[in-house]
Amino acid sequence: MADNRKVGVLGGGQLGRMLIEAANRLNIQVNILDAAASPAKQISAHNGHIEGSFKDAAAVKQLAQCSDVVTVEIEHVDTQMLEEVAGQVVVEPSWKTLRIIKDKYAQKHYLKEHGVDVADSIDLEGKGSKGLKEVGVTYGFPFMLKSKTEAYDGKGNFVVNGEQDFEGALKTLGSRPLYAERWAEFRMELAVMVVKTKDGVLTFPTVETVHEDSICKLTYAPPRNVSEKTAQRAQDLAKKAIGAFEGKGVFGVEMFLLKDDTLLVNEIAPRPHNSGHYTIEACPISQYDAHLRAILDIPIPQAGLRLREPAIMLNILGGKTPDSHVKVANEALATTTASVHLYGKGDARPGRKMGHLTITAPTLAAAEREIQPLIDFVDNQKG
Ligand code: ATP
Ligand code: MG
Ligand code: MG
Repeated sequence: MADNRKVGVLGGGQLGRMLIEAANRLNIQVNILDAAASPAKQISAHNGHIEGSFKDAAAVKQLAQCSDVVTVEIEHVDTQMLEEVAGQVVVEPSWKTLRIIKDKYAQKHYLKEHGVDVADSIDLEGKGSKGLKEVGVTYGFPFMLKSKTEAYDGKGNFVVNGEQDFEGALKTLGSRPLYAERWAEFRMELAVMVVKTKDGVLTFPTVETVHEDSICKLTYAPPRNVSEKTAQRAQDLAKKAIGAFEGKGVFGVEMFLLKDDTLLVNEIAPRPHNSGHYTIEACPISQYDAHLRAILDIPIPQAGLRLREPAIMLNILGGKTPDSHVKVANEALATTTASVHLYGKGDARPGRKMGHLTITAPTLAAAEREIQPLIDFVDNQKG
């Protein structure tokens, strides 16, 4: 057994499920706190799981009591209880890190204070449409209105194109704590998975992410038409950003590459991340392996984080029918060499992450040729 400590995870979605796949290979027990039959629990039969919400203090305490190391697969958790239990159980990354990152505005401020370039932002809490007007004057249009908390897959963002959008923006997001960001005129989006261990900070390669309707659709490793120098700069920036936070584990760093080649950090995830799924097939050590190893102090050679072969990851989102994700999976299995992952979420809702697939090939061009018919197929399934 590589480690006989039990790992407790707040959240049992697809990230928890893939973490368990990695843990199972090392015979490490992972206790999941989430609803019964959540994606992660489906592939892990033991009696150490906790049924409940990762936002519920009592449930978090219960998980801590039956685990040796507690970690997260989602940042929208109760950090108050994590702070309380941190004396009795190891919490990785630190609850302090989770508390800062779960508030996107606080996160941006923290990064800026630590010398990491981010988009300019303005606090809008309690300011209503007067606040929006001020942002329009300061930043011009468009600007991005964002919820500070509970944001994922663009649910919490609103593009404000002019004063005519104020009413709609406040109708959609008005009940949430808000801030505004200056529009980033990016050439493309890049991401780097960073691993923080007891010994230092390591990075996976730089990848390109393509978002559609604010949801990650594709990841290209390596990024298309990006110089080695820029890719290296992105890794350096990601390393600097994560170096500013306490605790161990993997972190996803999303970045904008602006038209003048400037890099800005968009946001950070204190956990495995969609942009790192490709590592399962494309790197000797996956982001999930790396997370487990980092929180348990199992060695990670930097060479294990290299790209073995170019890779493209395509998200399988819910489409126009409840089984459209299954159709995509079947098409991929029948016509390509793709590695297909389905998350066990039941019926699809449009735009919901239901699975993903990864194609690796000797060149990125070959991977692009192979995946194109699947991108077309996915586009056809869209609701
Ligand atoms: P995730 O699912 O990655 O957690 P999220 O809901 O937290 O997403 P963001 O990452 O803030 O949302 O934004 C989603 C996408 O919206 C970005 O990847 C980018 O494409 C676009 N976006 C966000 N902020 C800006 C900005 N300031 N300027 C231009 N585009 C932006
Ligand atoms: Mg986010
Ligand atoms: Mg994001």
